[in-house]
Amino acid sequence: MSVVIIGGGISGLALAHGLRARGTEVTLLEAGPKLGGNIQTLNRDGFIIEAGPNSFVDREPTLRQLATSLGIEGRIRTADPAAKRRYIYSRGKLREVPSSPPALLKSDVVPLGAKLRMMGELFTRRAPERDESLADFGRRHVGRTATAVLVDAMQTGIYAGDVEALSVGAVFPKVVELEKQHRSLVLGMVRTQAAARKALPPGEGAPKPTGAVSSFDGGLGVLVGALAQSLGTAARTGVRVEGLRREGNGWRLAVEEHGQQAELAADKVVLAVPAYVAAKLLRPLDETLAARMEGIAYAPVAVVHLGFAPGSLPPPDGFGFLVPTLERRRVLGVIHASSTFPWRAEGGRILLTCMVGGAKRPDLVELDDAALVTLAREELRELAGVTAEPSFTEVFHWKRGIPQYNVGHLERVAAIDEGVARLPGLFLTGNAYKGVGLTDCIRNANTLVDTLAR
Ligand SMILES: Cc1cc2nc3c(=O)[nH]c(=O)nc-3n(C[C@H](O)[C@H](O)[C@H](O)COP(=O)(O)OP(=O)(O)OC[C@H]3O[C@@H](n4cnc5c(N)ncnc54)[C@H](O)[C@@H]3O)c2cc1C
Repeated sequence: MSVVIIGGGISGLALAHGLRARGTEVTLLEAGPKLGGNIQTLNRDGFIIEAGPNSFVDREPTLRQLATSLGIEGRIRTADPAAKRRYIYSRGKLREVPSSPPALLKSDVVPLGAKLRMMGELFTRRAPERDESLADFGRRHVGRTATAVLVDAMQTGIYAGDVEALSVGAVFPKVVELEKQHRSLVLGMVRTQAAARKALPPGEGAPKPTGAVSSFDGGLGVLVGALAQSLGTAARTGVRVEGLRREGNGWRLAVEEHGQQAELAADKVVLAVPAYVAAKLLRPLDETLAARMEGIAYAPVAVVHLGFAPGSLPPPDGFGFLVPTLERRRVLGVIHASSTFPWRAEGGRILLTCMVGGAKRPDLVELDDAALVTLAREELRELAGVTAEPSFTEVFHWKRGIPQYNVGHLERVAAIDEGVARLPGLFLTGNAYKGVGLTDCIRNANTLVDTLAR
């Protein structure tokens, strides 16, 4: 069996690696000059900078297992312990996000009235039997203010989305499951933790993932580099797939390779490309399926890195801060990259990574690099008091950055799955459908390895 994987982001790479480990012949085709998709790490002027994702949370073994199979587990580095502190810009200043329900009592992240309302979570009504926006879900559980501040900031950090549009079932499925079983999330958490303690006496069982924000010593590019090395010539860059048609029991692909048109045959094809690219390739085969895929919106994001000479400002505290939409600011959030990942800035340099745009301010991603640097500096001055002149700047524009799992997403994906199942030998993976995080992408690729190996 020969499998052609279209798309060399983490989804396609993890899939190719998993299939080869099971003895399947694989060719991976990547349109761009480099593998990695959204993951692009650069070493410049004493900084390790990430064009897209910065980290993963070591919450399940998926990514660690992939690293182990590549021999790079020892290169995983966890964030500085101080990165456990996170801030939200709210009501004129940065306020620390409480890390536990008791810490919430002392916290000023939301006003007293909102805190009292949050305690009413224990009395939340049962969920409606329909897909619900994250905002509606939040208001039902923790009230209007906590939703506008905390829930909105939380989604901004992952989706850069619109809290009123995102589907809670699609973006936080575990939370919805907790509600289904326990009605109140607080009750659900207490009961689940108690059950876990009973099931596993302390010190027993497999080593637990650390739960910490993590990356690699040389940035996330280390993972891509190891995957590329392991795939060798099975992964080809500079090959854009432009057409797809059935031929006998298999598939034929029309490709453009370094300006030359060519054709390739495959028994099975996997689309590991963004949904809008998959839609274009599938349109001649199934118009309805293509329209469904095209309906998945993407939020644009600009990533603005500002590097500072050692000593030019005090090292900022914690992981960084998020800015809820209601503050009407121009940054979505800032990662204190050098405080969180000290190895990413040499000799005491400071690196701040500002996220701009998102579903609510797509216009800002259209600004040119110089305007984005000015914007980031103005926002940092007003929100965090950073007045120092950066010695280094780098800007990345992601015009279609993060897929938006808006209300109706789960139904849409079920219909897409049905449509794809009608095309024998064709499969889908990638961040557009069942999770946008790196760990989600790898987990979904692993599931597809099992399906294909069967
Ligand atoms: C700014 C930003 C910050 C993020 N931060 C985090 C984070 O900190 N942690 C986290 O877990 N996740 C983060 N994410 C999400 C995560 O990076 C992505 O969900 C994940 O990398 C997507 O991987 P993928 O392989 O599914 O898709 P992509 O990375 O989009 O890969 C798809 C590949 O397909 C290729 N392609 C497209 N068309 C064709 C064609 N016709 N022929 C051949 N190849 C083609 C593309 O060139 C691309 O390389 C972030 C995303 C962005 C944009």
